[in-house]
Amino acid sequence: MSDQREIIDHLTKTLELLSVEKGKSQQTPVKKVAEARDEDLVHYSYSYINFSYENPTIYHAISYFGKALEEAGFEYLSEKQNWQRKLLEGRGGKFYTVRNGTNLSAFIVGKNWDQSKGVGAIGAHADSLTAKLKPITKKKNVEGFELLGVAPYGGTLNELWFDRDLGIGGRVLYKEKDTNAIQNALINSAPHPIAKIPSLAPHFGAPAVPPFDKETQAVPIIGYSNDEAEEATEEEKCCPLYGKHSLHLLRYVAKLAGVEVSQLVQLDLDLFDVQKGSLGGIKNDFLFVPRIDDKICSYASLIAFIEYSRSIDVAKLDTFTSLTLYDNEEIGSLSRQGAKGGLFEATVSRVVQAFEEQLDLHTLYANSIILSADVNHMFNPNFAEVYLEHHRPKPNVGVALSLDANVHMATDVVGTTFVEELARLNGDKVQYFHIKNNSRSGGTIGPSIAAQTGARTIDLGIPQLSMHSIRATTGSKDVGLGVKFFRGFFKNWRPVLDQFGDL
Ligand code: ZN
Ligand code: ZN
Repeated sequence: MSDQREIIDHLTKTLELLSVEKGKSQQTPVKKVAEARDEDLVHYSYSYINFSYENPTIYHAISYFGKALEEAGFEYLSEKQNWQRKLLEGRGGKFYTVRNGTNLSAFIVGKNWDQSKGVGAIGAHADSLTAKLKPITKKKNVEGFELLGVAPYGGTLNELWFDRDLGIGGRVLYKEKDTNAIQNALINSAPHPIAKIPSLAPHFGAPAVPPFDKETQAVPIIGYSNDEAEEATEEEKCCPLYGKHSLHLLRYVAKLAGVEVSQLVQLDLDLFDVQKGSLGGIKNDFLFVPRIDDKICSYASLIAFIEYSRSIDVAKLDTFTSLTLYDNEEIGSLSRQGAKGGLFEATVSRVVQAFEEQLDLHTLYANSIILSADVNHMFNPNFAEVYLEHHRPKPNVGVALSLDANVHMATDVVGTTFVEELARLNGDKVQYFHIKNNSRSGGTIGPSIAAQTGARTIDLGIPQLSMHSIRATTGSKDVGLGVKFFRGFFKNWRPVLDQFGDL
């Protein structure tokens, strides 16, 4: 990213503007947080618009979050090293780790914490629906049109992806010139759209009516030429990707990565909507942005965690709080960087191993609470009949609990009560979402994490319209309301959980 410094300055300014509890110790008796002002809440949306524009892929988002954590005093720990010495240096502290560039876990462990005190954690997924470049993207030109081979990630390449300006971005692996070291670079073509999936005009009749074949009718066009293909240089022909992707694409990607074509070894690239988000509606009640599901809960919980981290003194703290952002939720979470890969549990185990002579993870998780933060469905007035009465989240009210009688969501009645109590304490409003009996609930990381740890887990999140569309809508105060709610969780989860005794 070219102007990372500027983004971090912007983020720092936002945090300074909004850190209402700065300087207060965790030991301060619990009291109601002051009502956040509306203009402060909307300010988070402006920050989010910039974040989502500058960080269109999960690699960018996780990299941005890592830098923001560093800026806030969190120390990076590599999964490839033992953490014992670092964790015990000050007996606790603020740390984070990253797996695969797409899965991040940050945590704050207080000096006076022990494993019987559990952990207060939030998990969210940072992957979004996208179109991924195939391992070999080269396709036969069709009458001069250059086509790009892409695969749907999480059910894309339907007609919602047609006619959008698509940029390219993600991670590029390349080899250092003088050594065999493999490095990676993140690239982002925005504001330049390199591709378009053209719809067929309705004038053509039946062939223009969906559904369409995702292999043959949703193929992005990236160029047109009747000229002879350009010759590769001898050096370019040495690139292991030569012949697998068009020379145009390899040259374009290499330029963005700041390397030569011959250095490229692999690409993990997405196509994404390059159009920047905006506030919208006649009174700016809404936020129109791409990739809400789920960069938005990831962003809001990360900002909340940083704000919380600035309000506490680790040397006086007796809690352990954690935030983990996952990849691959949209395709079932079963990967090393997904929620079933267990990065959160691995960080908890490493902390316990450093702090304790004997591991007692069962007691730890029994005394823990986990929020699974993922977007859920805002009420759509044009389809009122599909929404269950009294369970219709609205914009600019607050997070919505995801409830499901068949436990596709992890929330139970104790969890619901916990959230109601927490919201009461922090001056937040909570909404309910539950599907009607004639539709089926979606899934989240919640049930997986609950089953893997045994810890009580609650599904909730920021409500949005148009989930899984290439562009979506939420309320203009909803990012801010999410930050406020999550910050209240990090601050007050322990005393609220203590209200429940052995439940
Ligand atoms: Zn989601
Ligand atoms: Zn989703």
